[in-house]
Amino acid sequence: MLLKSLLVRVRRFISVTDENPELLKAQFEVFSSQVPLMYAIMLISAWALAITFIDSAPPLLAIYVPVFFTLVCCIRIIGWLRSRHIVPTIEAARKALTRTNLFALLIGVAITAWSLSLYPYGDPYMRGNIAFFMAITGVGVIICLLQLRSAAFMVAIIINIPFVLYFSFSGIPSFIGMAINTFLVSGALLMVVAVQFRHFAAAVDARTRLETVNEENFRLANHDSLTGLTNRRKFFYNLTETFYDARAKGQRLAVGIIDLDGFKPVNDLYGHVVGDSLLGDVGRLLVSLADRNMLVSRLGGDEFALIIRDCGSDSDLLAKGEQICTALRSPFVLADATVQISGSIGFSTFPHLADNVHELYERADYALYHGKRTNRGHAFLFSIDHVVEIEQSSRIEQALRNADLDRELSVVYQPIVDIKTRKTRAFEALARWNNPVLGNVPPALFIPVAERAGLVGGLTRIILEKALVTAASWPEDVGLSFNLSTQDICSPDGAVRIVGTIMASGIDPQRLDLEITETAMMYDFARAKTAIETLKTLGCGIALDDFGTGYSSLSQLHALPLTKIKIDRSFVSDIDKNPASYKIVKSLLALSRDMGLGCVVEGVETREEMDTLVSLGGQLAQGYYYSHAISEAEIDAFLPNTVVAISAEKRTVAAQ
Ligand code: C2E
Ligand code: CA
Ligand code: CA
Repeated sequence: MLLKSLLVRVRRFISVTDENPELLKAQFEVFSSQVPLMYAIMLISAWALAITFIDSAPPLLAIYVPVFFTLVCCIRIIGWLRSRHIVPTIEAARKALTRTNLFALLIGVAITAWSLSLYPYGDPYMRGNIAFFMAITGVGVIICLLQLRSAAFMVAIIINIPFVLYFSFSGIPSFIGMAINTFLVSGALLMVVAVQFRHFAAAVDARTRLETVNEENFRLANHDSLTGLTNRRKFFYNLTETFYDARAKGQRLAVGIIDLDGFKPVNDLYGHVVGDSLLGDVGRLLVSLADRNMLVSRLGGDEFALIIRDCGSDSDLLAKGEQICTALRSPFVLADATVQISGSIGFSTFPHLADNVHELYERADYALYHGKRTNRGHAFLFSIDHVVEIEQSSRIEQALRNADLDRELSVVYQPIVDIKTRKTRAFEALARWNNPVLGNVPPALFIPVAERAGLVGGLTRIILEKALVTAASWPEDVGLSFNLSTQDICSPDGAVRIVGTIMASGIDPQRLDLEITETAMMYDFARAKTAIETLKTLGCGIALDDFGTGYSSLSQLHALPLTKIKIDRSFVSDIDKNPASYKIVKSLLALSRDMGLGCVVEGVETREEMDTLVSLGGQLAQGYYYSHAISEAEIDAFLPNTVVAISAEKRTVAAQ
């Protein structure tokens, strides 16, 4: 039993196992440069010995055996040198090391047998040379096989034991001394081998662990853990690589940036777990739609990106984009809910629309941002018109930063009229900017620029202060409707600043309606909701502007403390001709009645439109049919005409 377990241990000790594959590979790596050296040492020593025996020993021993050795050693040297730059498989490394073990055994036996068989043919000096050859070869081989403990031990035992025994019984004191010496030195050397081998194995182990940690760090640094896609950092790395490649090959390259619409409300309403699994599903969907030329990454939040090498024509690109948008619109069945969102994509291409990496990305982003404002849920391609817009925006931004806004901003007021009584119930404050350099800049241009540049908070304060001062002079039953931008209600201190301005004005907050857009709700539902609740507590009304153009669902509306909705003018412009618009306005009016909300119909321009609204039971209206926006000075003259229809009709005619 004891013997059996001892044999098993010895076997384990001398065999090459694949228990530790990394160790095998490291041994192979070291050996591929060390083993040829070992064979070279053996050859040189063997010939140095053989030559001294040429005249005395038979040719078989003095010539043929060394020649045979040389052949075998050369084959092995060539074999190892050829595998020097190969990264072996674990199996190949194991086989090569097992072969080394076997050869170590055979060569040990052969050298011992050969050296001892030369012994009878030599004089005392030549015998001394044999002893020296065996001792030095043994030591040299052990050192060269340091990293393969089994081979080192085998060679030590096979060469040294016969050597020590043979020379101990030679009866010659100096040989006996040499045998004892070699025995002790080899023993010590084997202990060194055992220790060094442990160090070597430990060092390989440490290196393997370090590599694993490095790999993990690399993966974490370049991948998004939620979706498993490459992250923003890797996206830019890949984009740069692909860009230079495309430029060298003269290929077209496209960048697509995808932004989800309606993701934030899902996150807010159903929680982060549902939000996370939705992002995971979106990632998988995008990957399933990608071909081998398309790389999908997640840039962060609900933003994804595509790199499309060798992309087809613009229309191919847009068709692919629309395919993705259509897929994103289909419902996502998650564990806790089935949700529906949509996504928009902005594309830009090299070399036609951008000529460097930065521009490719920025322009795709621009196409997305601008496309989304007019037609969410679709694919957009950056165009030359956008270049003009970008230049215009940067001029506007520059001017906004340098402007004396207190002086240059003014407010005009458009009446909101009771459809039945024709009485002006409120005025909507609309900003006007007259800049000495740019002249009159419409709000539809400068408000979005101010929003993007983070300047809108300052503008809101100035416009609101001016509007509140003006409204304070109106009769008590005439209200003020004021537009807030996304940043006003989504920035942490935006709502607080607005509350401060309203309270400082001394006006009754009940006379004030604050208009917010769906975009603000989409941007950050939770924060917008908190801000709106704060403003509502103050007593202000909250109106949802441009209703019907976005994606607000009923459940979202219910979650907000709204008091009014404003039906977007796009539905009203052809209400008397287009049955679809008619139906939409009809259902929105019914919806607002059911929810107990006030409803303003925007953009009423003609008598026919107004008549249709009357027939549908509309409550409040606003538009050129009643009046354009008028200046503060014109209000006094306007207000006494509580019934505004006649003058409005005149105004409309005048406007045409
Ligand atoms: P909005 O809030 O939808 O404002 C209504 C816009 O429609 C105004 O354009 C108004 O002049 C125009 N409008 C009114 N009646 C009619 C009509 O019958 N037909 C047509 N075609 N248009 C009509 P305006 O003043 O150019 O303002 C454009 C947008 O700029 C506003 O859209 C609003 O989103 C934004 N805006 C204006 N003033 C401010 C402000 O003080 N703060 C913020 N955040 N946004 C503002
Ligand atoms: Ca408005
Ligand atoms: Ca509006």
